Amino acid sequence: MITKLVILDRDGTINHDSDEYVKTAQEWTPMPGALEAIARLNHAGWHVVVASNQSGLGRGLFDVAALNAMHAKMHKMLSAVGGRVDAVFFCPHSPDENCSCRKPASGLFEQIGERYGMDLKGVPAVGDHLRDLQAAIAVGCEPHLVMTGKGAQYKGQSNLPKDFPANTQAHLDLSAFVDWLLLKTQAAAKSSAKATQTSHSAGSSA
Ligand SMILES: [Mg+2]
Ligand SMILES: [Zn+2]
Repeated sequence: MITKLVILDRDGTINHDSDEYVKTAQEWTPMPGALEAIARLNHAGWHVVVASNQSGLGRGLFDVAALNAMHAKMHKMLSAVGGRVDAVFFCPHSPDENCSCRKPASGLFEQIGERYGMDLKGVPAVGDHLRDLQAAIAVGCEPHLVMTGKGAQYKGQSNLPKDFPANTQAHLDLSAFVDWLLLKTQAAAKSSAKATQTSHSAGSSA
């Protein structure tokens, strides 16, 4: 049973996105600092899984073997920097198939919850597109936008468009999200240690 889980989108969040789709392992290239950011999460005890729309499969632009090769490259490059993604959950359908797993539908997130046997309430989920966050909040995840990939258009804006979930937090990139999460969890650990200390001293003085 795990408790520290982060769910990441893939294209535009971990690797460079392309309007022509990422179709081969060669075209799969990580964004600066993204793999190191995942490694930092792992070292702090976080499990990381990917939830990704891969409609290029349904559109016939590449096959599952090509997708596996992309992910083999990702895993290999990650392990070279000491990082690890536990699993990649992907939707292989094209939009006109009306499946229940293509984000903004929540099917991939439900699969993740089932696999880990956990309620995803409060689990941080990160993506560069509104639909990533819509899928995330449908299962109670905490929505985080990275301003890379499709999210780059929101850089420098003081407010996100109204259709974004109200509790969306925006970060420059995946590395900035990880900075934020690790700082937050360190602060929480510190304050709970302090609370324990306080109750100890209260107990001894009684
Ligand atoms: Mg994306
Ligand atoms: Zn699907």
